[in-house]
Amino acid sequence: MIEVTDVTKRYGDVAAVDGVSLSVPSGASLGLVGTNGAGKTTLFRLLVGHETPDSGTVRVAGVDPTGGTHVRERVGYLPEHAGFQPALTGAEVLGYYADMRGVEAADVDTLLSVVGLGDAGDRRVGGYSNGMNRRLGLAVALLGDPDVLLLDEPTAGLDPAGVDAFNRVVERVRDERDVTVVLSTHALGEVEALCDRVAVLDDGTVRAVGTVDEVVRSAGETVTITAD
Ligand code: ATP
Repeated sequence: MIEVTDVTKRYGDVAAVDGVSLSVPSGASLGLVGTNGAGKTTLFRLLVGHETPDSGTVRVAGVDPTGGTHVRERVGYLPEHAGFQPALTGAEVLGYYADMRGVEAADVDTLLSVVGLGDAGDRRVGGYSNGMNRRLGLAVALLGDPDVLLLDEPTAGLDPAGVDAFNRVVERVRDERDVTVVLSTHALGEVEALCDRVAVLDDGTVRAVGTVDEVVRSAGETVTITAD
């Protein structure tokens, strides 16, 4: 479903992504871990077609994501620090994005329930907790029933209950919808719970890829990752 082949993306002198190759089969889930500045967000932006590689190729569902709307219709993306207009209700936010994506309004109520906001749809987003905001972002990403779900540090800054609630929804969505998931996080435990494989990014480069067990075993002295 996702094929990244020897991709480099530079900003001036900085190679944010430097010769990265990654493959995620349909229905699989990949965790991206790495320190701040490792290149995770840049990789997401390449996958969603917001950035063009300087070299190498990106294919999502067999298509170059920069090429048009085809891939974007099949990809749900929750950017890091996604925020919504606080004066709108949760249902209005979803309705707005549903309009943009040409999705039936009926899906809005279903999605609010899927992310555990069934009772909060008529409340203003300004009164939502961080965790509720993040789950609303997940609902937005799920509009149109995408084949690929890209989640950039979705639980960063949430309290443990918020992290738990968010990850339970991801787990359910992963199991019940035939969706390919890529998510980034600083917590290896989250990857272990939610993903088949993990890729460790460091300085724009993939240092290791495999199951969490394989990566931890092979990490040796070259990779430092937190286990919480
Ligand atoms: P974080 O966890 O802090 O979000 P990240 O792993 O997502 O980090 P990126 O945001 O992809 O990392 O950044 C990788 C490198 O590229 C960093 O050195 C960053 O400063 C640089 N970079 C990213 N976007 C830009 C940009 N638009 N202009 C200039 N430099 C950028």
